[in-house]
Amino acid sequence: MLPIVALLAVALGIPAAAQTADFIIENANIYTVNPGQPKARSLAVKADKIVAVGNDLSSLAGPQTRRINLHGATVIPGLIDAHAHLRGLGGLLESRDLRHVATIAEIAAYVQQQAAGKPAGEWVIGRNWDQTNWGGKFPAAADLDAVAADRPVFLTRVDGHAGWANTRALTLAGITNQTPDPPGGKIVRDAQGKATGILVDRAQGLVRSKIPPSTFAQIKRQLELAARECARLGLTGVHDAGVSRDDLQAYRELIREGKFPLRVWAMIGGDGPLWREFAERGPEIGDFLTVRSIKLVADGALGSRGAALWQPYSDDKSNSGLMLTSREDIERIARVAAAKGFQVCTHAIGDRANRTVLDAYSAALGGKNEKRFRVEHAQVISLPDFKTFADNSIIASVQSTHATSDMRWAAARLGPDRVAGAYAWRRFLNLGIPVANGSDFPVEEPNPMLGLYAAFTRQDAQGQPPQGWMADQKMTRQEALESWTLSGAYAAFEEKVKGSIEPGKFADFLVLDRDVMTVPPLELPAIRIKATYLGGKAVYQTP
Ligand SMILES: [Zn+2]
Repeated sequence: MLPIVALLAVALGIPAAAQTADFIIENANIYTVNPGQPKARSLAVKADKIVAVGNDLSSLAGPQTRRINLHGATVIPGLIDAHAHLRGLGGLLESRDLRHVATIAEIAAYVQQQAAGKPAGEWVIGRNWDQTNWGGKFPAAADLDAVAADRPVFLTRVDGHAGWANTRALTLAGITNQTPDPPGGKIVRDAQGKATGILVDRAQGLVRSKIPPSTFAQIKRQLELAARECARLGLTGVHDAGVSRDDLQAYRELIREGKFPLRVWAMIGGDGPLWREFAERGPEIGDFLTVRSIKLVADGALGSRGAALWQPYSDDKSNSGLMLTSREDIERIARVAAAKGFQVCTHAIGDRANRTVLDAYSAALGGKNEKRFRVEHAQVISLPDFKTFADNSIIASVQSTHATSDMRWAAARLGPDRVAGAYAWRRFLNLGIPVANGSDFPVEEPNPMLGLYAAFTRQDAQGQPPQGWMADQKMTRQEALESWTLSGAYAAFEEKVKGSIEPGKFADFLVLDRDVMTVPPLELPAIRIKATYLGGKAVYQTP
């Protein structure tokens, strides 16, 4: 019998001589994520594509073919993070990550040290503080004034939905006791009505707009830094959740310069001039950069109580969150997108935001369809609304580590009834709704192994709680792997070229130091990437 590639070659009219492989991976433990051929020992690559998958592909070896014996090492498809922020990660890699800092004093010490290294008046910026690390009390401007009164300081909360400014920054932004809350934002005030320094959601813009913008060279450097980190961590694809014109230009240049070790599927950041231009001229589709979607933001986040709920927060009865985009606007954009071949990806965390987005999408989609609109986060869903996803072929783009980060306080924010529809992946899967996974880095850490682990354990890194949080909503380990590969590809219209190890797809795959499908769960986050192959090239190898 002819090898499958020869058959394919005949079918495609390619001369058989062209079908010797450039290299063959042999003696490997391959999990293909192709249900038709789940396991294999060998895969063959020619140029940037996989040409054959099987147990013995030696018939494809010509005199120039490299044969790579992996001695039983595990191979999986390159992982796809379906929702992340590459520039944010790049910025973080250039500064200190405040995520695990447990006291305000330690953050103040960091700010003091940053300030000491910069000329007077220059901004100190930072990311990822989290007041739940120190018992939940929001910090204040005064904490930063004590160490850096001579310059503006602005530190973004871990979820990106709140910022912490010092007095100098508040003054530069023109924020006084009389400043009203901007639409979609909140200036947190003390009992005397004085701004405390905490700005929620769109109120951050008052200060943010005063921070000098990054230069193009900085943007390019940060994107390159982030992409290299992704390659090191085993990501071959990232869906960048909201890009600017400069970001796209930087991507195009990095790709042209041959410096870019990652495939990016970029969502246009919001309903602005860039979106209107794209809507006019249509999607941009390439091997390394694709632009065929718009990112909208329906509400805030749960951690800063900005997620839009129908009923008030269980732990803050005066607050039910903030809608940031109206149903009418989402529907209007959804109609344009559907007509012009674009997907819509809308951030929705609270049950009110999710229903609003679903209503807007269904009005534009009108039932089952092939438009692949997505809800980003899809975090707190009223139980009857899950069906609306299925009825309108809407994709859930979730982040499994959000569940395990938020489980410490999510039930307190939501109460027992609402939490039943929160981070409820099994409810999506049971209805046949595609679930793409991601990290939302730099909100969470970019290592996809953490997301794989969280998806099928719903436990923290110490294995708590013992059965997993809301254990009935766990994915299986196989579903977890699919959510980080094939479902991400599907959510981008790319399942024919990415997401599994199959002939005809890009040769994007990983060599791991342990077997991701059988290793004890607690060991999984420590799995290391031995090699990341992108289009048949090793873009990362363990030194
Ligand atoms: Zn995000």
